[in-house]
Amino acid sequence: MSTTLYRKYRPQKFSQVVAQNHIKVTLQNEISSGKLAHAYLFSGPRGIGKTTIARILAKALNCQNRRGFEPCDECPSCVEIREGRSLDLVEIDAASNRGINEIRELREQTKYTPLKEKYKVFIIDEAHMLTNEAFNALLKTLEEPPAHAIFILATTEIHKIPETIISRCQRFDYKKVPLNEIILHLEDLASREDVKVAGAVIKNIARISEGYLRDAVSLLGQILSLGEREITEEQASLVLPKSHWQKVMEFINFLFLGQTKEAIQMINVLMEEGVDLEHFAKTAVETLRKILLAKVTGDWQELGWEAGEERLRQLVLNTKEISTASMVKVLEIFLEALLGLKQTAIIQLPLEIAAVKSAEALGKVQPILTAEKAVQKPAVEKSVPQEPEIQEAGAINLETVRQKWPEIIEALKDYNHSLSMFLKSGYPVAVQGKKIVVGFKYNFHYERIKEDKNLRMVEEVLSKVFLKPLSILGKIDESFGNGLLDDLAGQKGDNLVKGVIDALGGEVVK
Ligand SMILES: [Zn+2]
Repeated sequence: MSTTLYRKYRPQKFSQVVAQNHIKVTLQNEISSGKLAHAYLFSGPRGIGKTTIARILAKALNCQNRRGFEPCDECPSCVEIREGRSLDLVEIDAASNRGINEIRELREQTKYTPLKEKYKVFIIDEAHMLTNEAFNALLKTLEEPPAHAIFILATTEIHKIPETIISRCQRFDYKKVPLNEIILHLEDLASREDVKVAGAVIKNIARISEGYLRDAVSLLGQILSLGEREITEEQASLVLPKSHWQKVMEFINFLFLGQTKEAIQMINVLMEEGVDLEHFAKTAVETLRKILLAKVTGDWQELGWEAGEERLRQLVLNTKEISTASMVKVLEIFLEALLGLKQTAIIQLPLEIAAVKSAEALGKVQPILTAEKAVQKPAVEKSVPQEPEIQEAGAINLETVRQKWPEIIEALKDYNHSLSMFLKSGYPVAVQGKKIVVGFKYNFHYERIKEDKNLRMVEEVLSKVFLKPLSILGKIDESFGNGLLDDLAGQKGDNLVKGVIDALGGEVVK
């Protein structure tokens, strides 16, 4: 069913292809001007249009009524290609035809002029799977290409293609499809199928598919196959896989904040909900890897795509003071857990151990006292007795504030819901004496918090949570949440909390 939808709406012209504009424009110019390369290399992730564009290119080259660069999709040549029965388009799946024989055969074929049309087009899909011998045979063909032959190599693993081949091809790097373009495409498909799909469902599919258009269309196909005229969030939830990365992100934030107990509780809740923990662990490893890379390269763009602005901002701040070495250690711990999951009787155990080990690796071991109190609810009242130890040591520092921040936001909801939302739009960036400095992207959020009545509420909550009078000082930063928060880079939380924990004889939560 899902494949049907994908095939049914597979683009037949350049104008129907979603995204990849940088590639379309160049190819269109080459077609219009007749200045074609003999060989093309399409590299990039799966399911984002490589083969589709290769076929449209083949069609355009052989179309009998081409207008500009666009194939007519109606003439016999176009129809034959569309229906997969053209003799002038040869598609080789290198994943199943790795041998030199196929390439030799291919070389034989190029010796003859195409039957009716101008070009014979060879699409070699999964080209990285070719054997060395096959690559060599291909190279010989590319070194002396017959005038009427065009080769299009498609691959998801460009690093496995020999340099000698790459240098003979015009290379195009395909990009994952942006979220908004996937959303628009899904909306279009749903309306063409005359089904009303809730906006939240479309967005959810787009997020789950992580930029892979084909996955997104397949998921939509699964939903449409419910056979309803109207699809609600509730109906969709029966079909759509749970969005793991959201949970994973929450879980990783727990680890980074040293909230081991919460992390372990989460694993157990997920297990009760029937979530596939192996898949969860895999996503956790992938996400930790991306965070590590982002930390090293300073490029948080891909994570931003997946996490959304709010989560990304928390993540950037939470990882700011974690060393790369500690991150690597945590990644290794979860890799180990992933392996352990395959051979354990207690399915949640490897992840629980990983959470505890991570706390050690990150130097975020909770004292038992804090951990036990932390699970009780509601947060504000119960958190009161856990604080004196820290307070005696005089330590209201940035790390403590950040740990307590979700609690403060939550507690403020009971006073005034929108005030809580305003405060949530900011994030603690420093502690100066009795003031918590909070960074805001928008001045008007801070303006609202500054109003006398509102400020008193915030102060009341702060004093309840921290057992001492504290206030808020806003700092406006328009780049806030746009990615790197560079100006915060210099802000380092002090080590008081760690010192206190050491002094109290902190232990790993069992
Ligand atoms: Zn045509």
